[in-house]
Amino acid sequence: MKFGGTSVADAACIKRVAARIVDTYRSGHPVVAVVSARGDTTDELIELAREISENPPEREMDMLLSTGERISAALVAMAIHDLGHDAISLTGSQAGILTDTAHMKAKIVDIKPHRVQRALDEDKIVLVAGFQGVSTNQEVTTLGRGGSDTTAVALAAALGADVCEIYTDVDGVYTTDPRMVPQARKISVISYEEMLEMAATGAKVLMLRSVEFGRRFGVAIHVRSSFTDAPGTWIKDEENMEQAIVSGVSYTLDDAKVTIYHVPDRPGVAARVFSALADASVNVDMIIQNVSEGGKSDISFTVGETDLPVVHAVLDGMREELGFDEVSTDTDTAKVSIVGAGMKTHPGVAATMFRVLADNDINIEMISTSSIKISCVIGKAHVQKAVQALHDAFQLERENIQRDEVFG
Ligand code: ADP
Ligand code: ASP
Ligand code: MG
Repeated sequence: MKFGGTSVADAACIKRVAARIVDTYRSGHPVVAVVSARGDTTDELIELAREISENPPEREMDMLLSTGERISAALVAMAIHDLGHDAISLTGSQAGILTDTAHMKAKIVDIKPHRVQRALDEDKIVLVAGFQGVSTNQEVTTLGRGGSDTTAVALAAALGADVCEIYTDVDGVYTTDPRMVPQARKISVISYEEMLEMAATGAKVLMLRSVEFGRRFGVAIHVRSSFTDAPGTWIKDEENMEQAIVSGVSYTLDDAKVTIYHVPDRPGVAARVFSALADASVNVDMIIQNVSEGGKSDISFTVGETDLPVVHAVLDGMREELGFDEVSTDTDTAKVSIVGAGMKTHPGVAATMFRVLADNDINIEMISTSSIKISCVIGKAHVQKAVQALHDAFQLERENIQRDEVFG
């Protein structure tokens, strides 16, 4: 069971979570519960660090941020004790979560859950502080925003759990962010493949890497409300699962577009630029290279806004070697995406998406596709309109729509 920040925001919430865990335990299921930092704690700690230092060392950021989850784990354990059950809270490190050394975006490389298993064998309820681990250099690391989801799914895989329940402040995965589109509809079952694309394109209800773990190890994930008992959304693979042409619309607001002007058009240049960015742990999303003129071309790509300082440092270091002119950045960009496994076999989905954006006077700056996803970079100001219009056009508020109703 994993409980997100809103679910453990205050004392009353923490007691309710404790009661829910104890109920599950009493119905005959040993429980490992992963908890996030309370409410906005992580944001507040980041802000606090900023007040102290402009550029805090990432190691110290991890020491700081990992405390948020430890507070929650200890408090929930106390509440469970008060309900008459034995419980023990563990840090990520104590729970055996081993990561690589990339501070603030560490990847889990192994899980050795001996202590968790021993505590379960002793009939204890185990609380694990989410979002953190210990690196191969014995340093405390954090897994990136939303990382408690990944802790939970990875632990579920390592322990061979029956299910990984993600308790959050919405009652499942919706056709789009229900906070943006009120008509969004709860999806009852979705494949790993589609959920991966939804998470990768911004549906932050699950962290991308948690879905990757789920798929790799076949963990059934159930996203549900921590405030009601209603069934939520199952993420799993089933034979004969119905394939919607479009299952969901997602968006991101934290992208930045970088353009390098007049890059020499010869073999190896793109490899050089993008390996240097990869070595600096920068995730590049879309890439466009323009038609070359006079042996030079422009390359544009998108990255997360927070990576911009690193991108600039990397590119500055290569300017002379590669001989490009200028680098420009645009942070007024956002990305809207539609995801659906049925796209593979149905032509015309991209055309419909572009038509809907055009009808709403929204200019498309970049496009990228996979077999089950189409993403467009647009101006930030148009996101709400774009998401709403796409949700309407593909009639996602309705279940079981027929292809002819959307495509005519
Ligand atoms: P937690 O703190 O429990 O981890 P998050 O804030 O990380 O919760 O994720 C839940 C939020 O994700 C919801 O409140 C909702 O606004 C947002 N969200 C974005 N896209 C979707 C979607 N397709 N379905 C459900 N929630 C979504
Ligand atoms: N507390 C961390 C965050 O806010 C991790 C998580 O909630 O999953 O990103
Ligand atoms: Mg989250």
